[in-house]
Amino acid sequence: MNLAMGKERGFMELGRALPPARDPKERINDFKEIYLEPGYELANEQATRCMDCGVPFCHSGCPLGNKIPDFNDAVYKENWAHAVEILSSTNNFPEFTGRICPAPCESSCVLSINKNPVTIEFIEKSIAEKGFELGLIQAQPPVTRTGRKVAVVGSGPAGLAAAAQLNTAGHWVTVFEKQDVIGGLLAYGIPDFKLEKWVIERRVRLLEEEGVVFKTNVHVGVTMSADELKADFDAIVLCCGAEVPKELPIEGHDLKGIHYAMDYLVQQNRRVRGVEVQEEPILATGKHVIVVGSGDTGSDCVGTANRQKAASVTQIARMYEPPRQRHDHNPWPQVPMVMQTSSSHEEGCNRTWAMLTKAFVGDAQGHVKGLIVADLQCEESVAGKRYFEIEGTERELPCDMALVAIGFAYTQPKGLLEQLGITLDEYGSILADTRFQTNVEKVFTAGDARRGQSLVVWAISEGREAARAVDEFLMGTSALPSKNLSVLDLMAW
Ligand SMILES: Cc1cc2nc3c(=O)[nH]c(=O)nc-3n(C[C@H](O)[C@H](O)[C@H](O)COP(=O)(O)OP(=O)(O)OC[C@H]3O[C@@H](n4cnc5c(N)ncnc54)[C@H](O)[C@@H]3O)c2cc1C
Ligand code: SF4
Repeated sequence: MNLAMGKERGFMELGRALPPARDPKERINDFKEIYLEPGYELANEQATRCMDCGVPFCHSGCPLGNKIPDFNDAVYKENWAHAVEILSSTNNFPEFTGRICPAPCESSCVLSINKNPVTIEFIEKSIAEKGFELGLIQAQPPVTRTGRKVAVVGSGPAGLAAAAQLNTAGHWVTVFEKQDVIGGLLAYGIPDFKLEKWVIERRVRLLEEEGVVFKTNVHVGVTMSADELKADFDAIVLCCGAEVPKELPIEGHDLKGIHYAMDYLVQQNRRVRGVEVQEEPILATGKHVIVVGSGDTGSDCVGTANRQKAASVTQIARMYEPPRQRHDHNPWPQVPMVMQTSSSHEEGCNRTWAMLTKAFVGDAQGHVKGLIVADLQCEESVAGKRYFEIEGTERELPCDMALVAIGFAYTQPKGLLEQLGITLDEYGSILADTRFQTNVEKVFTAGDARRGQSLVVWAISEGREAARAVDEFLMGTSALPSKNLSVLDLMAW
């Protein structure tokens, strides 16, 4: 039984508060994180809003099963060492999730039934940063080694979590990454204004001190064969992400000036890292930019285009404008289907909804100059939603550059997966059983490669669970922790 809970009526005395963000006018002049230094006093104050519910819904809302009321209590009591210990027991990388998690735990926080939820994500970031500041988060190499060797392919959050856990269990772990830097989409994809890259480098240094070996610029299946990998390692964990983007197959999609969001975002990540961009530069400076797609990736394109001083930024969504408040059919503790305004939107963006993208229009040089759109109407029936174009609404929007950010379809099937003979599911993701085992002996998988495009917190969760399954496979039993994900958890959301 949890006998935590510091201040009994904190939630009645205090409202939700977050540290101030930098002024949008100022922050669009650089790529630094948008929040000011973490306020530990604020975290301590906000932690008192936690009611230490008998049934903490926040706990089950978190894919990692973070023990939220317990660390809230430790923060309230300023027992940072205990807070770090509690948080690290379920989350390998709170410094990542504390910055960029959409925080499903906050959506399911009991307070959010009729008040604003506890600032769980901010408290998590505060614990992580205070932990590093006080030297509480340090390398903890395993005391004994099993002599077993595990290869992890892909160094995104799933690969890093799997590597961290398997190393803790005493196995020798090597992480192979085809890029020149460790981190997966955390490093190349997510912009620095959401997650500065020193945060990843700090964690990678710790993992190295703990004994994990990282090999960058190794494209398994291309510069190193799958057979080599199988011969050298006792188990393999495929954490290759879902890299194949969804296409926008409309007329004119191959005109110059139309790019996949990732090609654009990765170039800017490289510039910020000080690495030379080899390809033709994709820059929004002075251009009328249209971002097609309303998710995280689209929002990151908006923030990046504003920092590159685009003439205008328009984001197009196919869906209707979401409501400001939950609908009755979307009750707590479900994830609220309400309007999300990201920090990038606050910086300036013309957001449009229920819009059909019909065709790109080019100029004489084959460069995009416009996008033909029309408004959509939605009809709902028991069979689902059907969208219809509203007659007479067709028009052309000016567009010097378009960024396609409508998501990722599946993991790259060619090369490594072909060589290993991996079976894919109907969506093109790697098929695995509930123990993260693929159809190929000793080959496991985790993260976006298995569940399709998802979230960092799910990638960490899957990496941890897959590590336990690998440990059991190698040793017959495992002392690594598990959240015991349900079949529902294992489906993408
Ligand atoms: C632009 C963008 C913004 C996002 N923002 C957020 C956000 O704010 N919050 C959030 O929770 N989620 C966000 N996401 C989603 C999140 O980043 C992913 O769900 C998460 O990174 C998946 O982790 P992963 O480890 O499974 O794969 P990835 O992070 O994709 O890592 C896979 C790695 O495998 C490597 N690889 C692939 N094949 C090979 C091979 N054959 N050999 C060697 N290496 C290989 C790749 O180079 C890559 O580094 C965002 C995604 C994008 C694209
Ligand atoms: S649901 Fe909210 S109030 Fe209740 S224990 Fe979790 S964080 Fe605290």
